[in-house]
Amino acid sequence: MDKLRPKESSKGAEEIVLTQIKQDFITPANAIFDYVDMVEKALHQKDLIFNDEIDQIKSSCTKLINQYEEAFVENTGVNAESIKKSSEEYSELRHNLRTPLNAIIGYSEILIEDFEDSLEKGTIEDFEQIINLARETEKAIEIFVDYIRGESINANNDASSNQLESAEALFKSLGDIEYSIILDDDIKQSDILIVDDNKTNCEVLQRRLSMQGLSCRTSYDGNSAIAEVFKKTPDLILLDVILPDINGLELLKTFRKEHNSESLPVIMVSAFDDVDSISKCIQLGAQDYLPKPINGTILLAKVVAALERKFWREREKKLVDKLHIQATTDQLTGIYNRRVIFEALDEAMDNSKKSKDRDFSIIIFDIDFFKKVNDTYGHAGGDAVLISFAQLLQTEISSPNIVGRIGGEEFLAILYLSKDQAVEFCKKLIKKINKNVVNFDGIDIKITSSGGVAFSNETETSADLTNKADERLYEAKKEGRNRFKLIDIELLGD
Ligand code: GH3
Ligand code: MG
Ligand code: MG
Repeated sequence: MDKLRPKESSKGAEEIVLTQIKQDFITPANAIFDYVDMVEKALHQKDLIFNDEIDQIKSSCTKLINQYEEAFVENTGVNAESIKKSSEEYSELRHNLRTPLNAIIGYSEILIEDFEDSLEKGTIEDFEQIINLARETEKAIEIFVDYIRGESINANNDASSNQLESAEALFKSLGDIEYSIILDDDIKQSDILIVDDNKTNCEVLQRRLSMQGLSCRTSYDGNSAIAEVFKKTPDLILLDVILPDINGLELLKTFRKEHNSESLPVIMVSAFDDVDSISKCIQLGAQDYLPKPINGTILLAKVVAALERKFWREREKKLVDKLHIQATTDQLTGIYNRRVIFEALDEAMDNSKKSKDRDFSIIIFDIDFFKKVNDTYGHAGGDAVLISFAQLLQTEISSPNIVGRIGGEEFLAILYLSKDQAVEFCKKLIKKINKNVVNFDGIDIKITSSGGVAFSNETETSADLTNKADERLYEAKKEGRNRFKLIDIELLGD
C-alpha cells in the first residue's frame, strides 16, 4: 500500500486567523459585485436612465479590493516585521480603505432615491443589500487594521483570544489527521490519459502520478487524444482546456458521444481564469477540475477520488447485474424463473387483447412420473433430469418465445405461434423429449413429459389461460401421459 503524505507542514494558527480575517472581508466585497450586476440588469430591463453611478460603484469596489490586497501583503507575514507603522499611518490606512466604501454606499443611496418609485421591491432590497455588504466590509476592515496594529492579540480581548484558541485547535487537529491516500491494487491498474499541449506539464503530471504507481498515457493535441481513447478507453482523462487543434470543450463533447461520465471520467485542467469554460465543461459532464499551477496533493486526491468512484460504480453495476440475474433465473436450471414467466404472460396477454397479430400459445409441461426418477436415482439424479429437460426446452424455444420453470418439474412456454404452427412445434418437441437421454452417474435416464396447450384468444385473462392449459395437461396425464393436448387435438409421443 502506498501512502501519500503532504510534504508541506500545515499553516500556523496565526495564519489561520489571518486567512479568516481576509475571508471576512473578501466574501462581502465580492458579493457587492454580484448584487451590482443584478441591479444593473434590473435597471436596464426597466429602461431606466442612470448616469455613471453603477460604474462608480463597480470601480470603487475594485479599488477597495485592490487596496485591501495590497495592504494585506504589506502588513502580514514576513513583511509585517519590517514595517512598523505609526498610529497615524494606521489611521490613514483605515481612512483610505473606507473611502471607496463611502462611494459605494453613497451612489447606492442616490440610486435608491432616484428610482424608488419605478423599481420593484426586490431590486430596492438588492440595493439595500449592497449597502449592508459595504457596512459588513467596513467592519472587516476595522478588524483587519486592529489586527495588524497588534491590538487584537490581547488576552483581555475575549473575542480575538477565542479566535486564536480555536485556530490553535484547528492547527493542532490538522497535524493529527493522518491524511494518507491509500491506493488499492484496482486503482493502481488503472490507465490515465493526460491531454496537454505543454509537454512539460504532461511530464510533470505523468511523473507525479507514476510515483504513486499509476500508469499514464499522454497526448499533446486533441486529435491524438481521440485516437488514444479509440485505441483503448482510459479509466480517467486529465484534459487541458486550451489545446492547439480542438479545444477541451469540443473534445469533451466528442468523448461524451460515445462514453458517459461514469464510464469515462474527465478532470479538466486549466489556468484559474477560464472559470467560464470550466463551468461549461462541468455542464458537459466533466467530473472535476484542477487549477494550474497544479498542486501535487490536490492532483492525487482528485485523481484517486475519480478513479475510486469509477471502480465503485463498476462494482455496484456488477452487483446489480448479479442481483438481477438472481431475481430472474431459476437457480437449479438457469432458465427464467416463475416470476419472470408469469409477468411475461400478463404482458403478452395485454398485448394480444390490443392487437390480434400479437396472439400466442402457451404450453405447460409436467415431467411424467418424476417422483419415480427421484426414488430410483436419488435427488441428484432428479436434478440432473430437470437441468437437462430445461436445457432442451431452452434450445428449442428462442426469442421472442420464452420458457421458464414454474414449479418442481413444471415448465411454461409462451410461443408466438398460430395453432397450426403450435401443432407442428409440439410434434417435433415430443420427439426430441423422447429421444433425450440424461447420463447420470454412468446410467442413461430417459423421461417423458405431458403438456397442455392453450391459445390467447380462448380466454380473457392470463389466469384463465393457464387454467385451460392446466386442465388439458391433467387430461393428457389421465389419458396415459407422454402426450400434448390442444383444444381438440391430442399429440402422442412414441
Ligand atoms: P406425474 O406423472 O403425475 O406428474 O407424477 P410425478 O411423479 O411427476 O408428480 P408428483 O407431483 O407426484 O412428483 C413431483 C416430484 O418432484 C415431487 C418432488 O419431490 C419432486 N421435486 C420437486 N422439485 C424438485 C427438485 O428441484 N429436484 C428434485 N430432484 N425433485 C424435485
Ligand atoms: Mg410430474
Ligand atoms: Mg407436477
